[in-house]
Amino acid sequence: MNFSSKLLENAVNEFGNLPGIGKKTALRLVLHLLKESKEDVDTFASSIITLKNNIKYCKTCHNISDFDICEICNSFKRDHSLICVVEDTRDVMAIENTNQYNGLYHVLNGLISPMDGVGPADLMIDSLVERIKNQEVKEIIFALSATMEGDTTIFYLHKKLKDFNLKISTLARGIAFGGEIEYADEITLGRSITTRVPYENTLNK
Ligand SMILES: [Zn+2]
Repeated sequence: MNFSSKLLENAVNEFGNLPGIGKKTALRLVLHLLKESKEDVDTFASSIITLKNNIKYCKTCHNISDFDICEICNSFKRDHSLICVVEDTRDVMAIENTNQYNGLYHVLNGLISPMDGVGPADLMIDSLVERIKNQEVKEIIFALSATMEGDTTIFYLHKKLKDFNLKISTLARGIAFGGEIEYADEITLGRSITTRVPYENTLNK
């Protein structure tokens, strides 16, 4: 792309660095912003800077939050004996949208993936074990993607958790293998949480 302006080129390159945004789309977005009022562009830019500077991660479940402890962990209406283990904040949003789950979450911040150099130590696993040791947890639900990485992570976690006095369940597989849970429709996802199965039952099959 030949740009008539270095400023334009810089902005297009920044947008083009975002996932799923090609150069053409980046150019369209930047030209759109140029047509907006200065106030609108200031609001847009400052929302990103404010987000980056002020966002917190819940000290208990690691979900993205405006507070040190997120609203879910802080709620007396939630069942604190139930922890749903997910990959990232998008999964929390997807499960919350089903209105079928009233427990807490634990966000791992990824999945074990030797191919990508992600090992157990890179994930929020120790803090999950601490929560189970220190709180009245009765059940852990693995709500991880039905992928190789998801299965590897569940297998690892199960080994770490199986000696605790806990029920360990996994989503009923209405979600096809390779399915990312954030993309599952709300009804399917809601059903697979309410009809979750003991993890042990999914082994030896
Ligand atoms: Zn939390």
